[in-house]
Amino acid sequence: MTAATHAGSLAALGQRPPRLVLRVVVYSALTLGIGAATLLVFLRQFERGRAEHAAMLEASVVTQTVVDRLVPGDLRGASEPARRRQLDRLFRARVLDGETLAAAIARPDGRLVYATGPSLAGQRLASAEKLRAALRGTVESEQVAVPSADGGAKVLRTYAPFRLAGGATGVFVVDRRYAPIASAAKRAAIAVAAVLELALLALWLCLIPIMRTVTRRINRQLETIAHLALHDELTGSPNRTEFGSRLDEVLQREGRGRCAVLFIDLDRFKDVNDTLGHERGNELLRLVAGRIRDALGPRERMARLGGDEFAVLSETAVEPESAVALAQRVRASVAEPCEIAGMSIELRASVGIALAPRHGTTRDELLRRADIAMYAAKQDGPPRVFTEELDDRSPVRLAVTGELRRALERRELVVFFQPQVDLRTGAVRGVEALVRWQHPVRGLLGPHEFLTAVEHAGLSRTLTRYVLDESLRQLRGWKEEGRDLGLAVNVSARDLADARFPAEVAEALARHGVDPAALELEVTEDVLMSDGVRGGRRLEQLVEHGVRVAIDDFGVGYSSLGQLRSLPAQVLKIDRSFVARMGTSASDAAIVRSIIGLAHQLGLDVVAEGVESPAHVAWLREAGCDAAQGFLLGRPQPHGAGLTAAAQDMVVAQAIPLRRAFA
Ligand code: C2E
Ligand code: CA
Ligand code: CA
Repeated sequence: MTAATHAGSLAALGQRPPRLVLRVVVYSALTLGIGAATLLVFLRQFERGRAEHAAMLEASVVTQTVVDRLVPGDLRGASEPARRRQLDRLFRARVLDGETLAAAIARPDGRLVYATGPSLAGQRLASAEKLRAALRGTVESEQVAVPSADGGAKVLRTYAPFRLAGGATGVFVVDRRYAPIASAAKRAAIAVAAVLELALLALWLCLIPIMRTVTRRINRQLETIAHLALHDELTGSPNRTEFGSRLDEVLQREGRGRCAVLFIDLDRFKDVNDTLGHERGNELLRLVAGRIRDALGPRERMARLGGDEFAVLSETAVEPESAVALAQRVRASVAEPCEIAGMSIELRASVGIALAPRHGTTRDELLRRADIAMYAAKQDGPPRVFTEELDDRSPVRLAVTGELRRALERRELVVFFQPQVDLRTGAVRGVEALVRWQHPVRGLLGPHEFLTAVEHAGLSRTLTRYVLDESLRQLRGWKEEGRDLGLAVNVSARDLADARFPAEVAEALARHGVDPAALELEVTEDVLMSDGVRGGRRLEQLVEHGVRVAIDDFGVGYSSLGQLRSLPAQVLKIDRSFVARMGTSASDAAIVRSIIGLAHQLGLDVVAEGVESPAHVAWLREAGCDAAQGFLLGRPQPHGAGLTAAAQDMVVAQAIPLRRAFA
């Protein structure tokens, strides 16, 4: 998968890749910005506190250097001018510097007994509380605004306690200019903040490449998911969803919407899967997908719809002729031999075509109709374009199709047996195998309810194989118990279209140790008459194996009695509709009589179906019919694999009274 197909997948799902990098970068930048500002404020506060503390300590240390020069008299106040000058000199030398504006000595009662400058002189101290605290022994400080030459200044006023040698206590009050303290704090804060914020910035910058990698990876994964949602994992082809949206796109295109939908189904693919195994089957599917893709032009797309079904959408082959030509091309490319595991396998595909807008203007309609045409193509071979006559699918049949494969795997299909009675002796001469579906929900289903679905699902061959196998096993069981019966099995057109069928039948007979002469294959009249079956020589081959062929449902089709001559059959079964009308319609009775006569002339055995009353038996016997089958003589009955004697008797017992009656 390339990045380009990825982007396409996401776009096709109507989604855009998330812009993770941008989002994370913006959000993290905002968060970092707020964090940095908070940090700066906090640091300034912190540094200011530290600077104030340092200034306060400095003031207290400096003042302590003058303590030993003080005398108790200095605390009494109103010193001599000479002593004042001495103190002035002392303070100027040791305490006052550029940043210390003024200093003073306070007595415990708060009175200033000495001050270096006017700012403190004569003041009662603003904060008696700080003074008291200082007297208890701690150095205190506070910010105070003082009048100054240029209108007013902020100072840090420190209260530092002292004790003279004699025991008298007092407090030094020192005013230092606040501006230098504040700017020192600011400088320190900015320096620290700068380092921290640079680190944060570096971290943030590291995030960008990481986020880009993460985004790229997430996008890739999103694309993969999108791709998987729209593509078939096995072959990498677009899947049904993707095909549907492409089809929608074409159909909705302004003023156009002309296209062809080809529904492609591989013939007998299940058999290939069963014989070669799933691995090889998958390999074949991949190969076929590639072949179909290669057979297409630039404005044609293919998809795998599931299983062995593919579809093609063409915007160029929009007329029946061109669409059929395209279908032929696809079939030809599929038909080329495939080399799998050292074997050469030839696959065939059936293709149905629906054209828009002629056969539909929605995706469902077109796919459904192409599907219907495909089923029709399965019977004849060449690609079929949809026609209204083909559309006779009932919802039940559609619902049933999906369950069939599972039914076969779970052995839900069971074989019932209906006796055929020899009208001369009254003995059961054989049984006809009739399939049923023991459906887990819908109960016991008759063949009419699911045979078409079997055919549409391409399972006819599998079903016949199954029924043949089950009933031959049963026949063998009866034989071992001393009951020598014939077996009639219904086969479909699909069986006879398969070149391997005669060999398969011979193999099944050999496997169960059953004499070929005991087996009769029932083929309906219309299938027998179809060109494929007559040309295929399958029936002749079967007859050569010793198997008998019965013409089933004779009379409902359109074959004339004259055509009977050319058919390789040994038995003729008169359809039950004739038998039912024999009693009421003189002409039907006459027809039956002449069918029996002609069949006998051609050496055919005649079996009448649908015998429901003793009158039928009497009439048929009188007309020379060889055998009869019907509810009167025995209904179809089930037999499991491990057949009991009592169960066998159910089939045979119903003929016993007859045998007596005829004896
Ligand atoms: P069919 O070959 O003509 O089979 C005879 C059908 O007539 C059976 O219906 C049977 O139950 C019914 N029948 C028997 N006696 C009477 C009677 O006295 N009166 C009436 N009204 N009907 C009677 P079923 O079993 O429903 O089978 C229907 C058709 O399904 C069969 O017609 C046959 O064409 C097809 N079929 C059944 N089993 C298989 C099978 O294993 N493979 C294939 N390919 N087709 C099968
Ligand atoms: Ca039959
Ligand atoms: Ca029949």
